[in-house]
Amino acid sequence: MQTVKEKISQLSFLKCSQCEKAYSVDEINTFASCESCDKSPLIAHYEFLFEFNKKDIDTADRSMWRYFPMLPVFDPSSIVTLGEGWTPLLTMDRLAKECGVNHLLMKDESLNPTGSFKARGLSMAISKAKELGIKKCIIPTAGNAGGAMSAYCAKAGMEATVIMPSHTPKIFKDECAWLGAEVILVDGLISDCAKKAAALNQEGEYFDMSTLKEPYRLEGKKTMGYEIAEQLGWELPDVILYPTGGGTGLIGMWKAFHEMIELGWIKNKLPRMIAVQSKNCQPIMETWLGNQENAKQYGGKATLASGLAVPNPFGEKLILKVLRESRGTVVTVSDQEIIQSVRKVAKLEGLLIAPEGAALYAALIKSLRDGILHPDERIVLLNTGSGYKYLESMSREI
Ligand SMILES: *Cc1c(COP(=O)(O)O)cnc(C)c1O
Ligand SMILES: [Zn+2]
Repeated sequence: MQTVKEKISQLSFLKCSQCEKAYSVDEINTFASCESCDKSPLIAHYEFLFEFNKKDIDTADRSMWRYFPMLPVFDPSSIVTLGEGWTPLLTMDRLAKECGVNHLLMKDESLNPTGSFKARGLSMAISKAKELGIKKCIIPTAGNAGGAMSAYCAKAGMEATVIMPSHTPKIFKDECAWLGAEVILVDGLISDCAKKAAALNQEGEYFDMSTLKEPYRLEGKKTMGYEIAEQLGWELPDVILYPTGGGTGLIGMWKAFHEMIELGWIKNKLPRMIAVQSKNCQPIMETWLGNQENAKQYGGKATLASGLAVPNPFGEKLILKVLRESRGTVVTVSDQEIIQSVRKVAKLEGLLIAPEGAALYAALIKSLRDGILHPDERIVLLNTGSGYKYLESMSREI
């Protein structure tokens, strides 16, 4: 076997997540179009052409791109980067004491470009889109994905169209506009924005960057899994709490863990994955409880944690699969609990985090109370974004 080729991607093909049919990585692909697979997401598959060892990680690159051989971009010059990833894994000692646990960490994604972990997914997807010759992108968004796509499109010299619920806080709209995107507002939730995007794109003029309808945002998000492992000396925690909207981070980290097992970087013991949702929009919880067959008809309400207002997640089956395989579960919290948690984390840890991330602390307390978590377990909260973009929407609560 040859030794590492630091800047050679081992991406081989895209695989239908339902039937495993292969799709080309040299052509523009969205989701699976196999007859019986009901528009399943496509998943990037890597063939190990050469040995990629932990010691070959490009540690001089303090971004998510340090794992290049396990990322989908072929030509390094296609990379569109603003310095995303390699975010800190912070100890939460005061918060841990407050809720009575012994090992509490937070992966703090608020430091990413545009203030959320959406930067990882969009940096990856826009880089790949650039490589495939795409010039115009469209995205339905609850806010943060739109901001990130606008930024990376600007950097890549591409056109961006962003479709947001009209009730989205002004800052998210302004962010996209400043970054040169066309902003279209729709009365409703992100699912209604997705319909609008489809209607605008009947001619196929735009490339649709929707969560999991585009295969490579997942590859950006999965780098959080690689980073958590590397930052913990290749010993994964017992539990990860993740605020779940479309679920890309959850699915992505689980994918990363399996890739790292195959690479021989970690052992088989994987964390339980806990999906946290807002009570205002809890489609995964309803399916998990068996109250509905799936979330296709679920109707949610808006929440302060706007990234969680995803009533009909396209990757629902994959989210549920991660929860089952990891022996995880779903926990839901109210907006009131979310606000209290924003305050608690800010006051005790000096971090003004996004309501989506704060939902995890509320969920942590519930999980301890319900015996889902044990105080001695090593727990990671995945804070997905900065609270600074939400100051206006939270201002009534101060
Ligand atoms: C988008 C978003 C989420 C949800 O992420 P998914 O990958 O869609 O599950 C959580 N938090 C914030 C801040 C977000 O912007
Ligand atoms: Zn298929």
